[in-house]
Amino acid sequence: MELPKSVCNCLSRLEDAGFACYAVGGCVRDWLLGLVPQDYDLCTAATPEQIRAVFAGEKMVLAGQKHGTVGIVTEGGVVEITTFRTEGDYRDNRHPGWVKFVEEIEGDLARRDFTVNAMAWSPKRGLCDPFGGQQDLKDRVLRAVGDPATRFREDSLRILRGVRFAVRYQLTPEPKTLEAMTELAPLMGNLARERVFEELCKLLPLVSAEDLKRFVPVLAQVVPDLKPMVGFDQRSPHHAYDVFTHTAHVTAAVPGDPALRWAALLHDVGKVPAFTTDETGRGHFYGHAQQSAQMADALLRQLKAPTALREQVVELIDMHMTKIPAEKKVVRRWLSKLGLERLRNLWCLQKADTSSKGICKDDELQHFVELDTLLEEVLAENACLQIKDLAIDGKDLMDLGYSGPAIGKALNALLEQVLDEQIPNDRAALLAAVAKR
Ligand code: ATP
Ligand code: MG
Repeated sequence: MELPKSVCNCLSRLEDAGFACYAVGGCVRDWLLGLVPQDYDLCTAATPEQIRAVFAGEKMVLAGQKHGTVGIVTEGGVVEITTFRTEGDYRDNRHPGWVKFVEEIEGDLARRDFTVNAMAWSPKRGLCDPFGGQQDLKDRVLRAVGDPATRFREDSLRILRGVRFAVRYQLTPEPKTLEAMTELAPLMGNLARERVFEELCKLLPLVSAEDLKRFVPVLAQVVPDLKPMVGFDQRSPHHAYDVFTHTAHVTAAVPGDPALRWAALLHDVGKVPAFTTDETGRGHFYGHAQQSAQMADALLRQLKAPTALREQVVELIDMHMTKIPAEKKVVRRWLSKLGLERLRNLWCLQKADTSSKGICKDDELQHFVELDTLLEEVLAENACLQIKDLAIDGKDLMDLGYSGPAIGKALNALLEQVLDEQIPNDRAALLAAVAKR
């Protein structure tokens, strides 16, 4: 493995001082897969005090020292070095009661979650792989280190991490690991909601429809609204899929932006409670967009999602059934209302929704091509979309004798007229329109 210079230097300095040091975890896994590692973690036999002594005089980050991690500030960024350690006595399925430094790398690797993450490498000693991670990577197998049930009881976040690694590297959990993941998934209820949310945010952008289907028994433990959707027959001529299969396809079809992925995942959760049948037996879901938006709001609050993301998701879901006719004036109004990014996101969701019904909808998809064309036209016009884009401002109105709230009211009315193409956005025309009021 070719280590970045800054990482290699840190490793050599520890080795020169007589302490074994390895690159460990994700970077070894990614290297063996032929991928470029996102970051490099080092682990060593040196205790934090010894690490500090070796790097005396360098800038260090000591916030993680208690857990054995010292960060060395280098030209290439902070290099994190962690003392070999084991952990034990997990409380509430999440926190170790104690952390103990150990002298051998094998002890450190044994505390790690999956075999593919429990490998270390050093230029001097080569690969250290006591749990067969390299073979599991070759076979595309996700396997817990040690007894899966014990490991997931220690820290149930590992279950969600397992889903993420399985999805990211197309691994299949071996039977015992899968069984423990599924059976112990309810323990994730003991985790801090923020950790669950954060893990889901990492996972969602990576999933395919098939991934969602294979892991829904686990995911439904943290997103309970998914459960009743599985197998839910829509009894609709517009849908070939049950609600969850449709949802899985929509989620995979939107771009990997977390807000869009969350919106896609939850856009139809309200279909189950909103379901009715008519006298012919056909299914309807009146008001399901609003119902889904409410449920998504409740779930994301419960998961302590950041307010901005929650609001974005809820808005997208709330509007996902809103038909936007392919007319320039209408597109301009929507652009004025939502801004470019939110409007594009809404169309992404609607397009994915349309294309994921299991029934070919070419004419409906053509509609989005037309909307995109119109949007490009509106953007090219540099159209007036906001009050600040108007060719006159509040000061002009004050000169005409306006004051207080009347100014904002008049400007809003002018913007409406400009958006409707009743008057052009030029100074003379706007002033004339004000004079007429
Ligand atoms: P990524 O590319 O997503 O960063 P990673 O493998 O580097 O993947 P991290 O969360 O950065 O994952 O953790 C680094 C290493 O620490 C992991 O490879 C794993 O060995 C270990 N690890 C992290 N979290 C846990 C956990 N909850 N339980 C056991 N080991 C863990
Ligand atoms: Mg990492």
